[in-house]
Amino acid sequence: MTTIDYVVVGQGVCGSFVAWNLEKANQSFIMIDKPDPLSSSRVAAGIINPVTGRRIVQTWMIDTLLDHAGKAYAQLGEALDVEAMTQKNSVSFFPSPQMLQAFIGRLEEDAAYLSFPADQEKYRNQFRYDFGYGEISPCYAVNLAELLPALRARIKNNNRLIEETFDHSLLQLTDEGITYKDIRAKKIIFCDGAGAMHNPWFRNLPFACNKGEALIIKSDHLPTDKVFKKSLSLAPLAGNLFWAGSSYEWDFQDDKPSAIFRQKTEKHLREWIKSPFEITDHLASLRPATVERKPFVGIHPHHPQIAILNGMGAKGCSLAPYFADQLVDHLVKNAPIMEEADVSRFRRILGKDARTM
Ligand SMILES: Cc1cc2nc3c(=O)[nH]c(=O)nc-3n(C[C@H](O)[C@H](O)[C@H](O)COP(=O)(O)OP(=O)(O)OC[C@H]3O[C@@H](n4cnc5c(N)ncnc54)[C@H](O)[C@@H]3O)c2cc1C
Repeated sequence: MTTIDYVVVGQGVCGSFVAWNLEKANQSFIMIDKPDPLSSSRVAAGIINPVTGRRIVQTWMIDTLLDHAGKAYAQLGEALDVEAMTQKNSVSFFPSPQMLQAFIGRLEEDAAYLSFPADQEKYRNQFRYDFGYGEISPCYAVNLAELLPALRARIKNNNRLIEETFDHSLLQLTDEGITYKDIRAKKIIFCDGAGAMHNPWFRNLPFACNKGEALIIKSDHLPTDKVFKKSLSLAPLAGNLFWAGSSYEWDFQDDKPSAIFRQKTEKHLREWIKSPFEITDHLASLRPATVERKPFVGIHPHHPQIAILNGMGAKGCSLAPYFADQLVDHLVKNAPIMEEADVSRFRRILGKDARTM
């Protein structure tokens, strides 16, 4: 038997920050993750945008989350020697006169994060647009493409990684903690993203997973210092690659790339971008979103051996570092978890789940 403090299931952005925080808190752990190049964190653009939706309202807790994310990515990036997060403000082309009016109205109500640049002709050489653009700043791009593999390599080099699918039927709860195969631990922490829909301990939580797709395009002509948006976002990746997406589908048959998304998105991009580009990839994944749009953080209300960090929806890059801190502080120092995020608010639903297992 290997005896450790924690088993962590899943190495997306949630599991990564949990593992990193456990390492910093000198807690021993084993990470179990099935390699999946199409998990949510590996398909995401990595954008942190402080405003959202057609009404351009500020996202939940954004001032606190931005401040926290800046520090958390800087620290993790330094440890892994990766440039983890860079500022890339968002240039948002208005797709209609109504959206232009909505932006101006919002700017008059609350100008935080929004501006209406005087030079509305600036991007005429690169893009076709009819109704001007606004700028959202600061926005950030998280370099998930380098961060996640770098952290995985660190966990692997420390002999803490098991690359396989976690088999729920082999998990035993004991008075002291859990056992799984030949591992004994104080607690198990599930960071399994949309995989939680198959997790017997948490599948009854009110998840509202939705599917998102993106194209990866190659262009030598597009600016790389900003994220551009016109219905779709165009976010610079490494070199001359750009991420173009995304869709939000609540009624989906599978989590695979679809021909209809590709057709629609290619048509939109060719109408919008003036220079030639090549499509190099097409990705799809499920966002682990929740009905209340609040994450699931903390200890299972009926099984103190089991914990969760999940439900990040479309905002994993800003929410995960903050709530991974709360979760690990809770586990190690018994610090409180924000009530709105604490999974114990689902005591009744999770009680039902436990009884039917
Ligand atoms: C198209 C798209 C674009 C997005 N863009 C952004 C964006 O720009 N900014 C942003 O903040 N968020 C974005 N998101 C949302 C973001 O991706 C998620 O919020 C975040 O990645 C969720 O992270 P997670 O760690 O909870 O889950 P995941 O990233 O899904 O990680 C879960 C991990 O657990 C593993 N796993 C699951 N079940 C098991 C099992 N039984 N055994 C072993 N391993 C298991 C999986 O293989 C995976 O590695 C986007 C999502 C999509 C789909």
